[in-house]
Amino acid sequence: MRDSTQCVLTPSVSQEGFDPLGVAVHRGSTIVFKDAASYAARGERGHEGYSYGLYGTPTTRTLEAKLTALEQGAWTFLAPSGQAANILAILPFLSAGDHVLMVDSVYPPMRDFAETDLRRLGVEVDYVNPLDPQDVAAKIRPTTRMIWCESPGSTTMEVIDLPQIAQIAHAHGALVGLDNTWATPLNYKPLCHGADIVTEALTKFVSGHSDVLMGSITVVDERLIAPIRSQMGRFGIGVSPDDASLVLRGFETLGLRLRHSERVALEFAHRLGDHPLVDRVLHPALETSPGHGIWQRDFLGSSGVFGVVFNQAASAGVATALDAFSLFAIGASWGGTRSLVAPMPVARHRSVTPWTGPDVVLRLSIGLEDEAELWTDIERFLQALEQQQR
Ligand SMILES: *Cc1c(COP(=O)(O)O)cnc(C)c1O
Repeated sequence: MRDSTQCVLTPSVSQEGFDPLGVAVHRGSTIVFKDAASYAARGERGHEGYSYGLYGTPTTRTLEAKLTALEQGAWTFLAPSGQAANILAILPFLSAGDHVLMVDSVYPPMRDFAETDLRRLGVEVDYVNPLDPQDVAAKIRPTTRMIWCESPGSTTMEVIDLPQIAQIAHAHGALVGLDNTWATPLNYKPLCHGADIVTEALTKFVSGHSDVLMGSITVVDERLIAPIRSQMGRFGIGVSPDDASLVLRGFETLGLRLRHSERVALEFAHRLGDHPLVDRVLHPALETSPGHGIWQRDFLGSSGVFGVVFNQAASAGVATALDAFSLFAIGASWGGTRSLVAPMPVARHRSVTPWTGPDVVLRLSIGLEDEAELWTDIERFLQALEQQQR
C-alpha cells in the first residue's frame, strides 16, 4: 500500500482491556457499511441503530440512554438547546387547523413561538391558568392536539396538577408535554404522572457548568418516537458528540450539585421570606408558593432556583441595587456552579392570569460557592435596597 493511501486508512487497533469509566467522543458524519446489502438495508436499523452521524453516535446514545432511564420513558432525543427540544416536542404533532393549549406561566420564548410560528402555520393557541385544571377542561376542543405545560412555571413557580390535566387531555385525544428544566429528572418524573413527552434544558442543572447548550425530549412510549425522529431528520437537527460528552461529564455530579443547591436555596428562601422588604418568595417547597401541596405530592425534591418579590416601594430599586452583588453574577440562564441573579419582568408574559403587584421578580440560582459568603452577598444587596428607601 502506498503512503498516501496509508495516511487515509484507519488501522484497526485492539480495544481489548481498555475499559475506561468515561464515554468516548465518537465524531463521525459518515458511517461505513460492511457490504452493499447492509448499506441498502440501513433504513431498517431504526432509531436505535447507526446510519448517519446526524442520527446519533455511541456518545449521544449514551446520554440518551441515561435520560431515558431517569425519566422512565421509551426513548430520548437530543436537541441543540432546551428551546429547540421544546419546539421539536410540539411541532411534529400539529397541522393547520389544530389547537394547542399552553400554561400561562410558560417559558416566554415558547409563548413567542406559539404567537409567531404556530399562528403563522394556522394553529390556534389558547393559554390556561396553570393552577386551574377546570380552565383546561373549559378550553379544550376536539381539535386540541397538545397541552404544553411547565411545572413549576417559569419565574412565578406555579406547580400544576399534572395528573388531572393529563386526564382531561387524554379524554380528548390530546398529548401532554412538559418542560421539566427546573426539577430535572431527579426531582420530578412527569412521565409517571401523566405526561406523554418531557423536555429538559440540559443547559441548566444537568450539564451544570454554564458552558454548553443542549436539550432533551423523552417520550413515554414507542408510538411517539417516529414522528419526532423523522421531523428532526428532515430539519437536519442533531447535537455534537463533543457537547454530549460535556453534558455526560456534568451529569455524573448532578445528584450532589442539586442536593447542595437545594439545601442552600431553601435556607435562603426562608431567610428572605422573613425580611421586611420582601413581599413573598416563590419557591415550590414553601407553603405560601402556588401549588405547594401538589409539589409535596408529586415531586421528589426542589431545585436551586427561586424568585423573590419585594414590596412595592423596594421593587423600584431592585435593578440598581443589583450592582451591590459581588459574588452572585448577573446573568440569564442558571444551574451552573456560579450563583446568578436576574431581574425578571412577568406582566408582559401573562395573558389569562394577570400579574398584579411589582413587575420584577428577582431570580436567584444557587451555585457551589461558600454558603456564608453567598449570604453576605445577599445582605449587601438588601442593604443597598434599604438605603434607597431612606
Ligand atoms: C433555559 C430554559 C429553556 C431553554 O433552554 P436553552 O438551552 O437555553 O434553550 C427552556 N425551558 C426552561 C424552563 C428554561 O429555564
